[in-house]
Amino acid sequence: MTWGFETDPEYQKDLEWANELVRNEIEPVDQIVEHAWDVNDPIRNALIRPLQEKVRERELWACHLGPELGGPGYGQLKLALLNEVLGHTHSGPVVFGNQAPDSGNAEILAHYGTDELKERYLKPLIENEIASCYSMTEPQGGSDPTAFVTRAVEDGDSWVISGQKWFSSHARFSAFFIVMAVTDPDAERHRRASMFVVPADTPGIEIVRNVAVYGHEEAEGTHAYIKYNDVRIPKDHILGNRGEGFAVAQTRLGGGRIHHAMRTVGLVRESIDMMLERAVSRTSGSGTLADRQLVKTMIADSWIEYQQFRLLVLQTAWKIDKYQDYRRVIADISAVKAAMPKVLAGVTGRAIQLHGSLGISTELPLGTWSAEVHHMALADGATELHQLQVAKQLLKDATPAPGLFPTRHKIALKEAAEAKFADRLASVDDMVGAE
Ligand SMILES: Cc1cc2nc3c(=O)[nH]c(=O)nc-3n(C[C@H](O)[C@H](O)[C@H](O)COP(=O)(O)OP(=O)(O)OC[C@H]3O[C@@H](n4cnc5c(N)ncnc54)[C@H](O)[C@@H]3O)c2cc1C
Repeated sequence: MTWGFETDPEYQKDLEWANELVRNEIEPVDQIVEHAWDVNDPIRNALIRPLQEKVRERELWACHLGPELGGPGYGQLKLALLNEVLGHTHSGPVVFGNQAPDSGNAEILAHYGTDELKERYLKPLIENEIASCYSMTEPQGGSDPTAFVTRAVEDGDSWVISGQKWFSSHARFSAFFIVMAVTDPDAERHRRASMFVVPADTPGIEIVRNVAVYGHEEAEGTHAYIKYNDVRIPKDHILGNRGEGFAVAQTRLGGGRIHHAMRTVGLVRESIDMMLERAVSRTSGSGTLADRQLVKTMIADSWIEYQQFRLLVLQTAWKIDKYQDYRRVIADISAVKAAMPKVLAGVTGRAIQLHGSLGISTELPLGTWSAEVHHMALADGATELHQLQVAKQLLKDATPAPGLFPTRHKIALKEAAEAKFADRLASVDDMVGAE
C-alpha cells in the first residue's frame, strides 16, 4: 500500500526556499517587469537573470526535465507542488525555467528535432537565452483542425509555408516559431498537417499586429497575428514525419495543459488568502466581514473548490509520472483543463466581491487573475472540447444494459436476489411456520 499526501522533507525545504524567493524577490520584480518572457528587455534581464542563477545553484532550474535536457528529473508531481508556490506570480515560471510555451516547445524539439536544430535552439531555449512561439491557431479556425489552411509545399531542398496564424503568443520575443501547416490536404482529418521549425528571421514572416487581451495593462499585446508569405525553410526543419503534426502537437499540449493547471492552483490559493485577510480586516456594523454568515459561506465554498481541484491536479501529475505516457492520462488532463476556469472564476469572483470596489480596480491583481479565467478556458483547447474528451474516454468502456431496463433496476435486482436466496428464504418461512 503506497498512498500518501505528504511531501518528502527534503523537497519541502526546497518549496519553502522557493516561497521565500517568491515573497522577497519575485513579487517585487513583478511590480517592474512587464514581460518576463522578453529576453531582449535589459531591465528584465538585470532583474531576472540573477534570480535564475540562484535557482540553478539550488538545483531547481527546469526541475521537471530529465538529466538529458539538463534538469534533475523531478517529474510532474514535484513540479505541481513548485508551481503552486509560483502560480500567482508573473515572473516565477521564467525564474524557475518552466514557463509556457517554452517548456512544451522544448519537449517537441527534444523529441523530434535534428541534432543541428537541438544545438541551435534547444540548449539556448532550456537556458532561457532565447524565447519561442507555438503557431497553430488560424484566424478562421482554432478548435477545428480541418479549418486550417496554412500550407507547406516542398520545393527543391525547402519547404515553403504560406498562410495566416492567429494568437501566436510571444512571437515578438521569439527566436523561432513551431508552425503547423497542411502538407497533405487530401489525407484523413488528423494526417493532413505537419509541424515545422521556422527561424524568426526568415524572410516572409509578417507580424500584422500583436493582439492584447483584456486584464493586462499594456497597449501592445503579445499574441501575434502573423502572415507567412512564402516563407522558405530547409527540408530538415520538419518535426516528426510528414502528416504527423497532430501527434507532434500532443507532445506539448498534455504537459502545457497540466502546467497551467498547477499554476492556477497557486492563483486560487492566493485569492483565498486575500479573501481571508479582507474578511478579518474590513469592519461591517459591529464586527468584521468575517462575522457575516454569507461571507463565511463564500470562504468555505472557495476552499472546498480549491481542495477538490488541487487534488485532481496532483493526482493527474502523479499519474503522468507513474505511466510516462500522456495518452493514458488524456481524460485526467482534460478533466483538469475543463475544471480549471470554473474554479478560478468562482474563487476570484468571490475574492473581488469581498474586496468591493477596490477588488475590481486595477490597484489589486484580482481583476487580472479573474481575466485569466478566459485565457484558461481557451488556450490549449476550449473547455467544451475537453468536456467532450472526458466523456469520450468514459463512454469507451460503457456497455449497454442487457435488457429493457437499466442494470440497477430495483425490480429485477429484487427478483434476482430472491432467486439467489430462495433456499434460505424458504427455510426461514418453514421456521416461522413451525413457530
Ligand atoms: C491567452 C491565449 C493564448 C493563446 N496562445 C496560443 C498560442 O501560443 N498558439 C496558438 O496556436 N494558439 C494560441 N491560442 C489560441 C487557442 O488555442 C484558441 O483560442 C483555441 O484553440 C480556441 O480556438 P478559437 O479561439 O478559434 O475558438 P473557436 O474554435 O472559434 O471556438 C469558439 C467557441 O466555440 C465553442 N466550440 C468550438 N468547437 C466546439 C465543439 N466541437 N463543441 C462544442 N463547442 C465548441 C467553444 O465554446 C469555443 O470556445 C491562445 C489563446 C488564448 C486565449
